[in-house]
Amino acid sequence: MVDRSYLGGEVLREVRWERMYPHELEEAFAACPVAWFSYGLCEPHGPQNAVGLDLLKAHGLLVRAARAHGGIVAPPDAWHVHEVGGYAIWAEREIGEARPWLTAVPPWVHFKNVCYHVRAAEVLGFRAAILLTGHYGPNWEDLKTLVDLLQPWLRMRLHGLPDFEVNRPGFPGDGADGDHAGKVETSLLWALEPDLVDVTRIPETPTFPLFAMGRTAAESRREAGEQMAADIVAGLGRLQGDLLATWDPDRPSRLRTFGDVERFWSEVVEPRLPDFKSLRRTWYDKAAPEAGSRWRENW
Ligand SMILES: [Zn+2]
Repeated sequence: MVDRSYLGGEVLREVRWERMYPHELEEAFAACPVAWFSYGLCEPHGPQNAVGLDLLKAHGLLVRAARAHGGIVAPPDAWHVHEVGGYAIWAEREIGEARPWLTAVPPWVHFKNVCYHVRAAEVLGFRAAILLTGHYGPNWEDLKTLVDLLQPWLRMRLHGLPDFEVNRPGFPGDGADGDHAGKVETSLLWALEPDLVDVTRIPETPTFPLFAMGRTAAESRREAGEQMAADIVAGLGRLQGDLLATWDPDRPSRLRTFGDVERFWSEVVEPRLPDFKSLRRTWYDKAAPEAGSRWRENW
């Protein structure tokens, strides 16, 4: 093993694909042929969190999961669904007209990229891939739809989920399992990336909207984040075990070329795209962002 003690005192096993030498990738693959994919974006998460929270959270959890259970963490994807449909209506309410520092792409770009990521893992011979989105709203439901559509084309076993699916029992004390820049997300990032959370930036008497800060942000605790991260990592390990146990070398592998991905997309996904929930154009009781709002432009 390469000595990477400079990573911080103890020698931590490198599991991040883009930072590994070929012999390390081969060793990790031989020991556990599982690929972990993280999805998130830069998006307002209150004044107290770095804007990349969703991606940093997802990627950080997968790095811990791979160190605990094996596998290789794919390069993170920091561009995700936003600004369309209900996302725009949510943003108008929670972000307002502040400069949002978003790294948004429409659902048809994001989900097609996911298909290409999955195809890359399939041809490399991975037996399982887990796709974790740290970004919420209905995109995770579409991810599950996409996984259902992809699976018949793959020998590799696939699972897609939002982190809150395995955040059990949730926030210590009340079991809250997900929020937006409230105590759950802020505590998780605090545990995973302590330099990227500054709770002194939470105002004593906030007025909302406040760069999409959650209403419970002031209750954040780093220890609570550590507990939730450990529970999530354990849940990801169970998922990984289930997928590997159901891998079958006799299943066909039909998503092997760029042409296969394009064919899969046009024949299988595109006819279903109008049903994708990320494109739903209402959210809570509101039908559209106000005329003149920046959120009206891609809604
Ligand atoms: Zn978030």
